[in-house]
Amino acid sequence: MKIHEYQGKELLSQFGVRVPRGVFCQSVDEAVKAAELLGGKVWVVKAQIHAGGRGKGGGVKVAKSLEEVRTYAQQILGMQLVTHQTGPEGQNVRRLLVEEGADIRKEYYVAVLTDRATQKIVVMASSEGGMEIEEVAHHSPEKILKVYVDPLVGLTDAQASELAQGIGIPAASVGKAVALFSGLYTCYVRTDASLAEINPLILEGNGDVKALDAKFNFDANALFRHPEIVAYRDLDEEDPNEIEASKFDLAYISLDGNIGCLVNGAGLAMATMDAIKLFGGSPANFLDVGGGASTEKVTAAFKIMLSNEKVQGILVNIFGGIMKCDTIANGVIAAVREAHLTVPLVVRMKGTNEELGKQILKDSGLPIITADTMAEAATKIVAAVK
Ligand code: ADP
Ligand code: MG
Repeated sequence: MKIHEYQGKELLSQFGVRVPRGVFCQSVDEAVKAAELLGGKVWVVKAQIHAGGRGKGGGVKVAKSLEEVRTYAQQILGMQLVTHQTGPEGQNVRRLLVEEGADIRKEYYVAVLTDRATQKIVVMASSEGGMEIEEVAHHSPEKILKVYVDPLVGLTDAQASELAQGIGIPAASVGKAVALFSGLYTCYVRTDASLAEINPLILEGNGDVKALDAKFNFDANALFRHPEIVAYRDLDEEDPNEIEASKFDLAYISLDGNIGCLVNGAGLAMATMDAIKLFGGSPANFLDVGGGASTEKVTAAFKIMLSNEKVQGILVNIFGGIMKCDTIANGVIAAVREAHLTVPLVVRMKGTNEELGKQILKDSGLPIITADTMAEAATKIVAAVK
């Protein structure tokens, strides 16, 4: 689960990480009032969407007067902000953060994430912070320093100071950077985050060290123990089909193709998508209905796929293990009748009670195309949508 920058900064400050003063706003008038309240001479008006790269896309503007705050808030609120992380259609901006302008002497980068290879938390930092960090990672990876944290000990001051000095924080500010890194690490662990990224981390003219941006991802499997994080969820930023699927406990991810897939088991779902690609088609989604798919779940899955205008055919690929093929066949028939199927449907079933399941599909009189192997199923659905 992702959250907005202003929410990330709220979390960070609870763990002692310093951030600029700022106010969350939802209208132009609120933005101007926020700037008045913050005082000073320079403000930054920042679009709040669940994607990075906002600066380059025109979603972060520095204002030097209250009139400019008004103009930028008008421009940004409601805009369709396109960044390298939103996709070409962009994301509608509904929320703003108005912040005091920071006196930036230098921009750095710091992030905490879990490294699968070493099974440890890694803290990465770089002297090359700001809007080009992807370029740095690509062309000069040696400029990104990493320390691996022993889970029993946590991030030590020695490690934090090695990072701070390594990225060139001036000696007088190293203590401040160490405190910030340690707060960031604690925040990551306590909130069950899977990514906590500050880009840029800044050194101010007076030697202060602050987080100027905040990006978080949280482990969905741990959200049950974090109601305070779930409260930050913003459904406007999520795919409506994925929201609907999560209500039925379906693992669903929208993709760009035109063949809807309904599969049990994540591994089989991946293999099914590969097979579709191999035979010249393109999947419209990943969908794992899980081991105990009820008729209700299968119906919900059909409705979600059919609500997607791009879907021109559906492939059901089920392995009958604990779940028997006849149960699935009945589920598919009920779902097809209820969801008013309008596109070709190919069903492949293997495993327990396979013959019985196939007979049930046949007896239903519905125009269901059956297949025996993965290759046959993929070939048939690709042909059917062409
Ligand atoms: P994004 O990463 O989505 O582009 P950031 O929050 O990192 O958004 O902002 C982009 C850039 O805008 C920063 O690298 C920084 O140079 C500038 N900026 C952001 N917030 C402030 C602020 N409060 N004061 C001054 N400059 C800022
Ligand atoms: Mg940033």
